[in-house]
Amino acid sequence: LLQPADQAGGIPARAAHRLAVGVELIDQRGDRQPRAVALGLVEDEPQVCRFLRAALTSHGFRLLETGTIREALQLATGHNPEVYLLDLGLPDGDGIDLVRRLREWTRAPIIVLSARGREEDKVNALDAGADDYLTKPFGVNELLARLRVALRHAQAGPELPSVLEAGPLRIDLARREVTVDG
Ligand code: CA
Repeated sequence: LLQPADQAGGIPARAAHRLAVGVELIDQRGDRQPRAVALGLVEDEPQVCRFLRAALTSHGFRLLETGTIREALQLATGHNPEVYLLDLGLPDGDGIDLVRRLREWTRAPIIVLSARGREEDKVNALDAGADDYLTKPFGVNELLARLRVALRHAQAGPELPSVLEAGPLRIDLARREVTVDG
């Protein structure tokens, strides 16, 4: 089940992402509006989904839910969640492979939620590109705290330079201008 993401208007995806993490987005009229953080949930157990939906939607998250790797990849390309929670035991493959594939093209934080509690499982998930690992069962408060940390780190990530230059080419990202030889 995929739910549509909000459109970010004319804001470039990366800038929109950075604004979104701050929990409010300034709209085109300049009004501040509370804004839910888009969270990609990849989990095939209905009970866990219900629990997370109840816990997270009341804390400023908008859930984009899927239960398979195939749908999770569609979700990533089509809706670009700002943070992911994902289970490792999925019906169409291993969540570790999904972490690896997501990492090929998103820097959004990925938190693994898994019943697998061995050190080896955690190391594999973190090495594949996950940012954090929570062993089931876990408490809501710990999950919320780890989401806050993940979003804080994402927000503090390396800034892109606002002007890129290569030979005669000059790209001003802030002004969305490209010039050749000034
Ligand atoms: Ca599962």
